[in-house]
Amino acid sequence: MAKKQFKSESKRLLDLMVNSIYTHKEIFLRELISNASDAIDKLCYISLTDDKVGLTRDDFKITIEADKEKRTLTIIDNGVGMTLKELEANLGVIAKSGSLQFKKDMQDKPEDIDIIGQFGVGFYSAFMVASRVTVTSRAYGEDIAYRWISEGSEGYSIEEYPRSKEGCGTDIVIELKPDSDDENYSEYLEEHTLHNLVKKYSDYVRWPIYMDVTKSRQVETDEVDTDGNKKKTWEDYTEIEVINSRIPIWQRPKSEVTDEDCAEFYKEKFFDHTDPTAVVRISAEGLVSYKALLFIPAVASYDYFTREYKVGLQLYSAGIMIMDHCADLLPEHFRFVRGIVESPDFSLNISREMLQHDRQLKVIATNIEKKIKAELKKLLDENLEKYETFYKVFGIQLKYGITNGFGANKDMLSDLLMFYSSKAQKLITLTEYVKNMPEEQKYIYYAAGESVALLDKLPQAEQVRDKGYEILYLTEEIDEFVIRTLRNFEEKEFRSINDEDLGIDSEEDKKELEQQETDNKELLDFVKDSLDGKIAAAKLSPKLKSHPCCLAAQGEISLEMEKYFKSMQGRMADGMPEDMMKAQRVLELNAEHTSFKALKEAFSSDKDKAAKYAKVLYGQALLTAGVPLEDPNEFSELLSALLFG
Ligand code: ADP
Repeated sequence: MAKKQFKSESKRLLDLMVNSIYTHKEIFLRELISNASDAIDKLCYISLTDDKVGLTRDDFKITIEADKEKRTLTIIDNGVGMTLKELEANLGVIAKSGSLQFKKDMQDKPEDIDIIGQFGVGFYSAFMVASRVTVTSRAYGEDIAYRWISEGSEGYSIEEYPRSKEGCGTDIVIELKPDSDDENYSEYLEEHTLHNLVKKYSDYVRWPIYMDVTKSRQVETDEVDTDGNKKKTWEDYTEIEVINSRIPIWQRPKSEVTDEDCAEFYKEKFFDHTDPTAVVRISAEGLVSYKALLFIPAVASYDYFTREYKVGLQLYSAGIMIMDHCADLLPEHFRFVRGIVESPDFSLNISREMLQHDRQLKVIATNIEKKIKAELKKLLDENLEKYETFYKVFGIQLKYGITNGFGANKDMLSDLLMFYSSKAQKLITLTEYVKNMPEEQKYIYYAAGESVALLDKLPQAEQVRDKGYEILYLTEEIDEFVIRTLRNFEEKEFRSINDEDLGIDSEEDKKELEQQETDNKELLDFVKDSLDGKIAAAKLSPKLKSHPCCLAAQGEISLEMEKYFKSMQGRMADGMPEDMMKAQRVLELNAEHTSFKALKEAFSSDKDKAAKYAKVLYGQALLTAGVPLEDPNEFSELLSALLFG
């Protein structure tokens, strides 16, 4: 029989398993049982609509057999089985689920064998204890069974094989490695070890796990005692029994399940290697009865930000998994949540269309959304550090939640948002911002730009900062859209520091500025004209203190939005009309600055020089706003001409 090679990354993983010094080798049993349970889930699901399966719920089972003489441990299931192709695809390649992450982590810390324990590395873990693994499987609907054999990283072989049992399913025979000085593999043949392992890791598995259990009973002997009664003695015998309690973790009373239990369950079930940030448990009785066990992850899965990510909760009804990813139970803005919902009210052949019309489901979905919100708020209030870690990963999702619904979800989400504060120099909530506002402060100020460092130096923020007001720095593309969708928070309006009216100047100040602008109208118009339509207007600015000028935008589109639209334009097939996404630039000048006096002087004596000044000031404004110069060469020549003649 020809030997086939494993794919290279599988071989690497296998090598790791075979030579593992990992101390929790025992997890191999959990992995194999969980695969068996999944296979039964699948067949059970098929049996709901397909009579040909010929099994009822009570027929499904997993069996563990230990043979001390042959040193084999066998795990048998009557689940869906694997076809020849599936044996190749599933066991010839590294498990898809955790694999990418696994590979990544391996590159980061190749020496760290402990990571084995943190992944659902699945089937391959058998090689930590096995010198040879034989998988015999018959897939549902197939007449022929196949046998897959491997002694580890050298490769594997597959051949047709008569499976002695009726029906479909899989037997996995593990030939244990010989005992060594450090490792006692024989213990996996001991009844009490196996019993304990099942209790420890697989007690919640829904399907019965059968095993031979040794018992004692009293039997009569032929000997007779002084009273003439037959003497009794104890005799051992074995009986096959179900050894797991079969109550899934989400069905157990809260008092019985620790947070660690939940975290372990989460990692195993959802292929994460990091404990979840929070666990939400719901047990609802009444109009609709359901139980839910939900998890807010601490890290994004490798595919979270890709199309591959499957959003949704797993649905169970009466112990049977009926849907793997039910997206309708989870609002889009909480799509990072993973978990399980079980209700006796779910119908077994539930379909997507039905979900949308099902009232009970809507009630459950609303309730789940509220609970997740409450949990996040609690985290924010009680464990800021943890919340910040969460927010750094999934905050963007909450922001999309605000913009996507045109603000429909703002009440749900706005108090979960955080932005960088100019004063606190860290993320703060909007609630905090409003609380910190001095009484006379009218608006919530924000500035949008590329980085905190840039925004911290923005000239137009001088006036606001001088007043002692806090500014929110928006550094993500979506931020400004979020603010615009919100419009206000706790009745305080948002105001960009680029806005003409920052609500700081008194009526007198405004009048004075107006007067100054009228006085300098000719000059300001000249500046505008010198810039060949690059700006919509030149104005005098009340915002500037020490800086000569700054760039602002008129109308609906800000400079940041213009940048965003530009990047969108590249991504969109038919694009948007150019002028729809262009910011109307305004050059604001500081009338108190020496530059303005120089400009004014040149305007009356040397128009050509004045035009050069205007261009330089515009260039300066672009640079401080983080907008690239249109023609850096021209700017440089201008500077040379003015400075060095
Ligand atoms: P994972 O369970 O993480 O997907 P595994 O390496 O444990 O990865 O298993 C790979 C695949 O092999 C499973 O997804 C499943 O399709 C298949 N498989 C493993 N064990 C069984 C089994 N007992 N019955 C049917 N299919 C199985």
